[in-house]
Amino acid sequence: MKKRILIDMDGVLADVYQPLMEYQYTKREKYISAEQLNGIKESEAFPDLKEIVTQNRFFYHAPLMADSIEGLKYLNDKYEVLIVSAATEFPGCINDKQQWLEEHFPFINHRQMIFCGRKDCVMGDIMIDDHPKNLDYFMGEKILFTQPHNFQLNKAEYTRMNSWKEIMKSL
Ligand SMILES: [Mg+2]
Repeated sequence: MKKRILIDMDGVLADVYQPLMEYQYTKREKYISAEQLNGIKESEAFPDLKEIVTQNRFFYHAPLMADSIEGLKYLNDKYEVLIVSAATEFPGCINDKQQWLEEHFPFINHRQMIFCGRKDCVMGDIMIDDHPKNLDYFMGEKILFTQPHNFQLNKAEYTRMNSWKEIMKSL
């Protein structure tokens, strides 16, 4: 039987920092690089986060993380893949996320999409996520996907991966 792997969307498949930075800084004529946000919590880096993500179908227009299509195909052949995304907080988010997945990852079927309000009720063998709040309640192998907000975080129980290329080499 294949091992089950749980994969997060925002910050793992979708590069949400790009549009968040654009809305929070560039459009407000403040210029800042992604490196300057290393180690800073998302809520502090993006004080208008809630406003930004509830406008203009934010999640539907989110760009892809580099090599995520190839990487997810690779994992989908080798593991039982479930995409697990917290999606009940913002109105319209579930539809936008489902449509985004269907368009970019047509090889992922509807039974592999788990949209939820919390992730601690979903079981699996491996979890890839950028947030410790999700990894910490998970009983299996915890893979922390590097994003600026978790840059300085070091915990022995996490395996850190910096890119989809690294995931493809290691899993
Ligand atoms: Mg995430």
